[in-house]
Amino acid sequence: MTFHIVTLFPGAFDSYLGESILKRAIEDKKIRVKFYNPRDFADDKWQRVDQKPYGGGPGMVIQALPVAKAIEKAQRSIAAKGKRGKSRTKIIFFSPAGKQFDTAYAKSAAKKYDHIILVSGRYEGIDARVKKMFKMEDVSVGPYVLTGGELPAMIMMDSIARQIEGVLGNFDSREEERVASPDVYTRPEAVSWKGKKLRVPKVLLSGNHADIDAWRNAQKKTRIV
Ligand code: SAM
Repeated sequence: MTFHIVTLFPGAFDSYLGESILKRAIEDKKIRVKFYNPRDFADDKWQRVDQKPYGGGPGMVIQALPVAKAIEKAQRSIAAKGKRGKSRTKIIFFSPAGKQFDTAYAKSAAKKYDHIILVSGRYEGIDARVKKMFKMEDVSVGPYVLTGGELPAMIMMDSIARQIEGVLGNFDSREEERVASPDVYTRPEAVSWKGKKLRVPKVLLSGNHADIDAWRNAQKKTRIV
């Protein structure tokens, strides 16, 4: 799976992709991440890509053409690699008003696509005409407004990457595929804190896996997610 990220701020990805599981997935070539900066396609000498919104209002809007050219560059790079038949590609346009991203979306994307182009906006967003130039889907990572599409791109990459075999140490350990509880415990069995002893729930020490699964399921049901 290759993630092609269209962003004005590629440096925002360095620390997250440079740590832990995603770092290893990149090193092991389970996933690849490529960046395309609309600024590289700006036609003025200051590489400016934002302008005032038509209709007035605060903030700036990212111009359509630099973003479209960045997407086209990603498409050309995919076409150049796809010698062995047509690559399966999806283009995502991040927007707080888009379709809600969830684990089901991540699982299906991991199965269906070899390349995902993630278009991250900033400021007031990207000129909507970009959506007329390409077949793309508006996707939201949650019912809140962020300052940019870089965190949504990282969320989506992380969630899709864990659905790709070989990314997690043990593929079957994905908690989406087993009975997992929102509350987890590890050693020691009792933790002393401000005069109190905080103990691990007894059932987890019982060795009875049916009881443990039942307890974990019950924990899940008491939560919103
Ligand atoms: N005016 C835009 C609107 O109402 O749709 C929001 C612009 S937002 C401040 C800037 C950028 O952050 C968006 O273009 C999008 O890329 C990203 N963004 C913000 N919140 C998001 C969310 N919940 N899900 C996905 N992307 C989001």
